[in-house]
Amino acid sequence: MNIKRVFPVVLLAISLILSSLPISARSVAHADTEEKFVFGKVDQELLEEIKLLDERFEKEGVVYHHPGLDAYLNRVGMAIVADKKLENVEWKFRALRDPIPNAFALPNGSIYINTGLLALLDDENQLAAVLAHEVTHVSERHTYLRNRSVRKKVLAINIISTIGNWHPVAGSAGLAISLIANISPFMLALSILGYSRDQEKEADLEGMKMASTAGFVPAGMPNSFKSMQKDIEGEQLNSFYSDHPKLQERINYTSTSLAADARKLTDDEAKTAKDDYLAVMELVDRHNVELAINEGRFRSAVFVSQKLVNLRPESSENVFYLAESYRTLGPRNAELTDKQLSSGAKKKAAKNRAKRTLEEQDAELLKTPGGQEAWKANSEKSEQLFLRAIELNRFNASARRGLGMLYEKLNRKDDAANQYAAYLELAPNAIDTERIRRRLVVLKESMK
Ligand SMILES: [Zn+2]
Repeated sequence: MNIKRVFPVVLLAISLILSSLPISARSVAHADTEEKFVFGKVDQELLEEIKLLDERFEKEGVVYHHPGLDAYLNRVGMAIVADKKLENVEWKFRALRDPIPNAFALPNGSIYINTGLLALLDDENQLAAVLAHEVTHVSERHTYLRNRSVRKKVLAINIISTIGNWHPVAGSAGLAISLIANISPFMLALSILGYSRDQEKEADLEGMKMASTAGFVPAGMPNSFKSMQKDIEGEQLNSFYSDHPKLQERINYTSTSLAADARKLTDDEAKTAKDDYLAVMELVDRHNVELAINEGRFRSAVFVSQKLVNLRPESSENVFYLAESYRTLGPRNAELTDKQLSSGAKKKAAKNRAKRTLEEQDAELLKTPGGQEAWKANSEKSEQLFLRAIELNRFNASARRGLGMLYEKLNRKDDAANQYAAYLELAPNAIDTERIRRRLVVLKESMK
């Protein structure tokens, strides 16, 4: 998999270099790789960097730990790995607090899947497919092989100093990427950006076999690509990766290679599998909605919290997350139109994102009739949902705070003050108590 979207020129430069390599350096003989692979000095160096990186991920809190989730990822991952033992590999399956849909493997066996991808997948078979794809990168030693073949070329463009001038996105997502960039720039170039097309295809096809052997439904592989095809944010997902197989191509070749007698899910089974997976992911999804909102991925927040509400419409928490998503969506439409999904519009939107703050974008949209219409619809929907969340659980303090913020924005000062007061009463020790108290004081002043 690739980290997408956030990389400017540096990574374009790296991917151009990697894609210009001759075919011989890019293709990898995979048969019996594990017997043949002998660790040399360059490989050891990379391994040391990777170990440091792994430790820092934990230390900086970018790994999302939750007992249920850790056990679940481990169960699915270890079923795929089975009894595969490799030198310098210790299998670990963990989630990263990052709302961008992505997954990657470090060559020491640490496999990371972003909360943003966990929230996008539909069932356990798709999760197994993603993990099996990454397991293949590790077991076929793709990173080491790639490192050996392109190290000098990557060095030539001096990634470290170039990345020094580069401003990653804010928040946890940016933190993970800057850690990789700082501790192991080679890893950034190699594993996350620069596997060859052949290696990616091998990871797809071998991964599918492995998942199937472990008892998962092999169609999980093409289906996982279909889940990733939803372009909720209108990002140009493949702009830096013309060298990589496109999702549609990956759907095609994995579907064709499915054995004729491969197990398939009936409609009923598919629905059950979807509900079961969503139930396991409920807490992860809620956390991911928060991350998405913090990073301005409001449409993804709506998409995921709508799934949560569909799963349990009576859950005050889930209804609260949907309300919060619609509130922060502001003057945007919840789903992009075909026109907004055209590549010209996506390019323009990307420029807009880079140049303007979210507040500036909001203000600009609100000047248009479409923006006003969307804000009217979203604020009404948000209000109804907040009220519903409170009706389902009158002690839901967060819903009070969210509703207060919505009313404040709508200039309903009295209503806003009441909700803030209710919040402070319900959550006197919350982390933002002081902030809300001050807002309340300012509101009351302005009403005098
Ligand atoms: Zn891959």
